[in-house]
Amino acid sequence: MRAAVLTGYGAPLELTELPDPIPGPGQVVVDIRACGVCGSDLFLQKGGFDSTLPIIPGHEAAGVVSSRGPGVDTVGIGQPVALYYIDHCGTCRICLSGRVNMCLGVRRMGVEFNGAFAERVAIPARSVIPVSEDDDPAAVAVLTDAVATPYHALVQRAGARAGETVVVFGIGGIGANAVQLAAHLGCRVIAVSRSEASLELARRMGAEAAIRTGPDIAERVREAAGPGGPDIIIQTVGSAEVFAQAVASAGIGCRVIAVGATLDPFPVNAMDLIWKEAGLTGSRGFTPQDIRDVLDLQRGGAITTDHLVRNRRPLDQVNDALDDLRAGLVVRSVIEFGSGW
Ligand SMILES: [Zn+2]
Ligand SMILES: [Zn+2]
Repeated sequence: MRAAVLTGYGAPLELTELPDPIPGPGQVVVDIRACGVCGSDLFLQKGGFDSTLPIIPGHEAAGVVSSRGPGVDTVGIGQPVALYYIDHCGTCRICLSGRVNMCLGVRRMGVEFNGAFAERVAIPARSVIPVSEDDDPAAVAVLTDAVATPYHALVQRAGARAGETVVVFGIGGIGANAVQLAAHLGCRVIAVSRSEASLELARRMGAEAAIRTGPDIAERVREAAGPGGPDIIIQTVGSAEVFAQAVASAGIGCRVIAVGATLDPFPVNAMDLIWKEAGLTGSRGFTPQDIRDVLDLQRGGAITTDHLVRNRRPLDQVNDALDDLRAGLVVRSVIEFGSGW
């Protein structure tokens, strides 16, 4: 099979021919039809996940089950599926509590085992979610991460309710979808970005206010939110400085949700939390149910994936897609393997 492989940190992916994967016990092989190119792939490429190399990246994918290993009877050959990239044991204390995204034995496709910048992937059968032949594979692919991640942050972690004011820091692949999901939930949305093009995207996605960031951003956010300040802040930028700004922007009872990945520490003034009874909490990935929920929202027309699937490229242009993302030219590209299922 054709695959794009990371063999050294900071290096471009190498396009190469590899043996087809063979499904082990409990596994299926999925013929990949589409895979999104995500900011996490850039983080992986520069060594952020400390992955063991070589690795095939690619974690937001859709495809068709083409073979089954011993003991698999839950999904049929030829079934179109979304891939849940977070492999989980299903039996540990955390899995049994339903939080499979934080399984104690977690292994991530495209991070700890080979991912979907390849024609085929071997994956546990419990990690595929059947979808409809009527779904667009590229839309299914991006829903599994670019939309499910902010959905988990907003709905599961922040408990967003209609009428609340939500501030989204960073309008990339995650942030733009946080905006449209919050607007769909009936929240007032304020978007913050350093890019005018991103602010325009946020307005199209339903933001009532879109604010260019700057040194006094916390004051301007609280002013835009009105008395008491914002109820929820979704921080999607991988920057310690922006985390400090997000906490300083918190309103009364605000839930500040950390989504953007950074390894750098940031200062928090305890009084910012105490005086407002504000909370600072993390949001890690999403669960299979979050994927099912966002699929339903997209099928019902409540949310769009058009802005995510506009840039489609074949696998041999995967490095161009990564460059586009790094340069901020796109919020997403999708690698396609042919068209349809
Ligand atoms: Zn991702
Ligand atoms: Zn587990």
